[in-house]
Amino acid sequence: MRSEEFRKCGYEAVDWIANYMEQLEADAVRPVLSQVQPGEIYAAIPSSPPEQSESFDAMMRDLDTLIMPGITHWRSPSFFGYFPSNVSGPAILGELLAAGIGAQGMLWATSPACTEVEMRMMDWLVEACGLPSHFLSRGPGGGVIQGSASEAAVCALVAAREAAQVASDHLCGYISKQTHSSIEKAWKVLGLPVENLRKIETCGDGSFDCEALESAIQTDQANGLRPCFAVGTIGTTSQTAIDPIRALGEICRKCQLWLHVDGAYGGSAMVCPELRWMIDGLELANSYCFNPHKWLLVNFDCDCFFVSDRRPLNAAMSILPEYLRNAATESGKVIDYRDWQIPLGRRFRALKLWMTIRYYGTEGLRKFIRHKIELGQTLASLVDESLQFVRVAGRTRVPDLALVCFYHRDGDAKTKEILERCNASGEMMLSHTVLKMASGEKRYVIRMHTASALTEAEHITAAWRKICRCAE
Ligand code: PLP
Repeated sequence: MRSEEFRKCGYEAVDWIANYMEQLEADAVRPVLSQVQPGEIYAAIPSSPPEQSESFDAMMRDLDTLIMPGITHWRSPSFFGYFPSNVSGPAILGELLAAGIGAQGMLWATSPACTEVEMRMMDWLVEACGLPSHFLSRGPGGGVIQGSASEAAVCALVAAREAAQVASDHLCGYISKQTHSSIEKAWKVLGLPVENLRKIETCGDGSFDCEALESAIQTDQANGLRPCFAVGTIGTTSQTAIDPIRALGEICRKCQLWLHVDGAYGGSAMVCPELRWMIDGLELANSYCFNPHKWLLVNFDCDCFFVSDRRPLNAAMSILPEYLRNAATESGKVIDYRDWQIPLGRRFRALKLWMTIRYYGTEGLRKFIRHKIELGQTLASLVDESLQFVRVAGRTRVPDLALVCFYHRDGDAKTKEILERCNASGEMMLSHTVLKMASGEKRYVIRMHTASALTEAEHITAAWRKICRCAE
């Protein structure tokens, strides 16, 4: 495709996205949760690739008729499931421009701007989120964009193993029962003994029980094992519980464990100074990540991963074959991000961060997060006023990370039926989890966040009315 044709088709594609955005803004995209059956989309696509070139118009027609029915509308203002996967105009355009430039930023030398814009964006985020200064790229550590928090977890664990310098089968790791499954996956990917990954109890509010952690570490040490890795979370997936990072950090320092802090969802909210109590003690962590692709208006994929000391990570990840040797690397004056990640190649993902942060400014980002938290509090009040539903309160009585968990008084089967009826209606998307109550009993609960970019109070009240109708 040459430039002339690209220009024409490109305008059409951008128009298509803008039209879709208009429909989303009007909350007119239904069903929110795709209702196709397994195999339906696969069967609708020809079993063999076309021999001859096809027109762009034909592809766009098929996008509407074949593909879109199989899309769940994550950008819908009535999408309340999982965590959001927010995008924004400037981020989409940054992504498009990065694709258009098509540079590989694996080494500083392969496109200096890719590396240096990324370094600066990571530094901007350290400042914007009030993170410890050792995460700055001019210090001993630094930040890098990973594809996902799961990749960041693998990198953190690789670095922790490198730092521990002990045979793998002696290493022990500690997560809480609410830690995201990506950590367990990283543990498996590294081939570490699964029986040495301890899942520690949580307190009543879902946060890491530090006393239980300390005693598990002592038991393992007494048995000749080497505790090496622990994970704290800022906003657990099930209920946005906040782990006590300072207490975890102190235990990890004392017992020489690598502390990784996973702020995949909650980390974006640190642009608001009033929420930074959640990262109190982060200066004790060895690594930290959060996903602007969840809650900071940057489309997937964009996980920001920081280390307080880059050496163990680089030592574990660096292999320099002859064909990548270059003067800049040898000068030791540059960062080569290939030594900070699993793949060699890397897109220019920093461009979408650059465009998003510049477009909104940190003030705009703070306003966005605060608004979504207020909407969460609106939803919490609706649940609290109802006679049929019970809200699961977390560490603070108000939901401080725009997620509300609730269940029907008639029990799990009723709650599940309500969720299924709401989702089948096509009017919204809700998801669920199972939570341990203060009594110790486990409950099926609906998780409903209010953090999607287009969600406003009217969408929440409409959804709440529907939920109540589905409960009748
Ligand atoms: N950590 C937490 C707390 C999460 O909620 C999630 C996903 O929702 C992840 C990690 C994994 O994120 P990713 O999809 O970026 O790997």
